[in-house]
Amino acid sequence: MSFQSLGLIEPLLQAVRSEGYTTPTAIQSKAIPPVLAGGDLLGCAQTGTGKTAAFALPILQRLHGHRPASPRKGRPPIRALVLAPTRELAAQIGDSFRAYGRHTGLRTTVIFGGVKQSPQERALAGGVDILVATPGRLLDLLGQKLLSLAAVEVLVLDEADRMLDMGFIHDIRRVVALVPKKRQTLLFSATMPREIQSLADSLLESPVKVSVAPESPAAHTVRQRVYFVETHQKPLMLEHLLRDPGMTRALVFTRTKRGADRVVHRLTRSQIAAEAIHSNKSQNQRTRALDNFKKGKTRVLAASDIAARGLDVDDITHVINYDLPGDAETYVHRIGRTGRAGAQGEAISLCCGDQKAELRDIERLLGKSIPVEHAGIELPPAPETPERPSPRKPGGASGRHRAARGGSSAGSGGSRGGRSRRKRGGSEQAAASSSRGAHTLGESSASREAAGSPERRRNDFWRRKRRDRSAASGAGGRSGGGSKHQGHRPRGH
Ligand code: AMP
Repeated sequence: MSFQSLGLIEPLLQAVRSEGYTTPTAIQSKAIPPVLAGGDLLGCAQTGTGKTAAFALPILQRLHGHRPASPRKGRPPIRALVLAPTRELAAQIGDSFRAYGRHTGLRTTVIFGGVKQSPQERALAGGVDILVATPGRLLDLLGQKLLSLAAVEVLVLDEADRMLDMGFIHDIRRVVALVPKKRQTLLFSATMPREIQSLADSLLESPVKVSVAPESPAAHTVRQRVYFVETHQKPLMLEHLLRDPGMTRALVFTRTKRGADRVVHRLTRSQIAAEAIHSNKSQNQRTRALDNFKKGKTRVLAASDIAARGLDVDDITHVINYDLPGDAETYVHRIGRTGRAGAQGEAISLCCGDQKAELRDIERLLGKSIPVEHAGIELPPAPETPERPSPRKPGGASGRHRAARGGSSAGSGGSRGGRSRRKRGGSEQAAASSSRGAHTLGESSASREAAGSPERRRNDFWRRKRRDRSAASGAGGRSGGGSKHQGHRPRGH
């Protein structure tokens, strides 16, 4: 299928060619004809599928074809409104409209919070055909009577599920109430929970439904793997993973904003260029962090889900789930940041004992198990836990308990790991199973036997690490012993 056969006009075909697109993606082939025909649309598509062009191209064609009969002098009315959950996504959608509409003469403006209002006011005053906005700032400006939505012909809700997650439902309804009832409405969502379905029912009229979610390229083409590590072992494990020189652009997802900051702090200390992007950062900081990441100045971008949603950065080589997400669909979104446009991508998850249920949900959604890999380095032993004090038996019962817990955590990974193991060879299975038990603990059975109390083992571990590090930096990167990986500290990033 070609873009031409979809019925697009020459100015758009020209722009699409300049973008280097040769064939429409699945969502584009399915969505463009019904949207060109003027109907409502409910699209289930993930980021990375080309859904922006799927709605932007037909909107541009519609607005280009029907100029308003009597625009107010010098100020064309807003005829298309796109609502997006995050500033970054809004900015990207705005860029896409400008790129695809470059030969149409139509004007696109983006408005979002966190930055000064005056440049946005000026842009609106100059006249806008297509407005892309986050709901909060839009309502602010509407409240100040700086714009009107009375002439809107097409309304798009993009990433509707995320807007609901972010608590924008009331804002959305307030905005929709200000848009004429006679309009074309397009709603895109990566997932279709009941709330989205009922939002769609209330906003759309006999919509054409298109879905490309099951063919998500990310879920099938991205190489996925998981490491069972405990929370306190994750920082070291991440540094270890970053020793892979092929990991040139890594997006690291954490569950919390503080978590993202901690990751950056830790990596920066280890001379790995990293920045965080989350909603506690100012818009300027977020833009700068994203630019540096896009330009390759920073190798790692640590992000919370909301900030990273919709990010369109080329050539992300790795997505690292430093924390597994709370819901399986978010996992699919996250890994969809890599392996885009046919490129190879890798998704690595660090799963600790209390995230096994999340992992099971993800595997259920994917319909396959994610291969488990061995850490390949010595990881720090667990800190002493207050609920299991063992003052009378240092290195005895509590150590064994922990060993049992490590074993069982690998083992309960065992029931799920069991599925993946059945798919692999027998000896490999046994090796994976035993090494998993050891690395979940972050220690070999030999070192367990030789060591004293957990606290002492921990202190010994970090003493060894410090010694290895100073040996490595003093001896031109030669390993000071221990793991074969130690001493290979990344340089120049
Ligand atoms: P989206 O899902 O809209 O965020 O698009 C994901 C990426 O795919 C963007 O980098 C687009 O530039 C790119 N893209 C969109 N449509 C096509 C196409 N037909 N061929 C190649 N790349 C495309």
